[in-house]
Amino acid sequence: MQDLVVATPDGLYCPPGDFHIDPWRPVSHAIITHAHADHARRGHAHYLASDDSAGVLRARLGDDIVLQTLGWGEAVEHRGVRISLHPAGHVLGSAQVRLEHRGRVWVASGDYFVAGDTGPQGAADVNATCAPFEPVRCDCFITESTFGLPIYRWPAQAALFADINRWWQQNAELGRASLLMGYSFGKAQRMLAGVDPSIGPIVVHGAVETLNAAYRAAGVALPATQAAADVPKAELRRALVVAPPSVQGSPWLRRFGEYSDAFASGWMQLRGARRRRAVDRGFVLSDHADWPGLQQAIAATGAQRVIVTHGYEAVMVRWLQAQGLEAGAFRTEYGDDALDDPPPATTAPGAMAAPAGEPAGG
Ligand SMILES: [Zn+2]
Ligand SMILES: [Zn+2]
Repeated sequence: MQDLVVATPDGLYCPPGDFHIDPWRPVSHAIITHAHADHARRGHAHYLASDDSAGVLRARLGDDIVLQTLGWGEAVEHRGVRISLHPAGHVLGSAQVRLEHRGRVWVASGDYFVAGDTGPQGAADVNATCAPFEPVRCDCFITESTFGLPIYRWPAQAALFADINRWWQQNAELGRASLLMGYSFGKAQRMLAGVDPSIGPIVVHGAVETLNAAYRAAGVALPATQAAADVPKAELRRALVVAPPSVQGSPWLRRFGEYSDAFASGWMQLRGARRRRAVDRGFVLSDHADWPGLQQAIAATGAQRVIVTHGYEAVMVRWLQAQGLEAGAFRTEYGDDALDDPPPATTAPGAMAAPAGEPAGG
């Protein structure tokens, strides 16, 4: 029987339905799992995405895209293929795509977040800025594998945010700003939703504020934030500054005087990652599933066949085969969440590039 999704030079493709999922070249019908730049590109004739992603998608791709949206679990048919979208827990609006055709069900996950050791049943460890990952039963599951190595195990978020708050509080007491860097779409809002705004003012970079506006418009609660120019200099010394990694080494930072800096990413779990980033602190906070989360998510689908995309494909495929599952991999052009951030404002060489051994994204 024909596969419901195959890899083509344009992207993942559903032959019976004649549409693509997160294609990287212009196509006629594109289902978009989420608005990160490596998954959502301009140039498609028709877009289908979740209701929740409409705001961020239009903010990034323009108001002129032809966009149809679906509520969670709501279905449409396209050439006999029943399509529905289910929350992936990764960023605002992120969806898994469920396809049903002649009694068979395939699910393409896009990027997803499940913290295997501490969530999702623990409830405390969901991504507070979007609908939590929902396991969907299927025959074949197409999974990402950004953190598909056993070393990746996320700490409980309560402990992590207590660490971040303590760092900010100590800096505030010493009269220096706290620069917390993370990708502007998804990670920044996640950090904002988790910190304690009673410690001091919260300043955000313009790239972050654009996305904050889309999140607030979608009903996501974020603490009050200000532009750096609107905060008196004395108060900046107690501020938490949330900005994309591209500000590192740029003149934008001069106004803050002395500051402590930190980077939030799943890659911070790697030995040496903080040093390579040349920051004072590294916080392990990811929008992707950790190793136990990937295992838990895959098991919950009940799928007998699993196809692995962007990340540690070979490791994941071997592990899945050892579990008795039919497993393979798709080559894709996904995997660079860092595409979402503006380039460095100065000539700081390589400030934007992920150091060797630390893939982009995270
Ligand atoms: Zn993503
Ligand atoms: Zn991705």
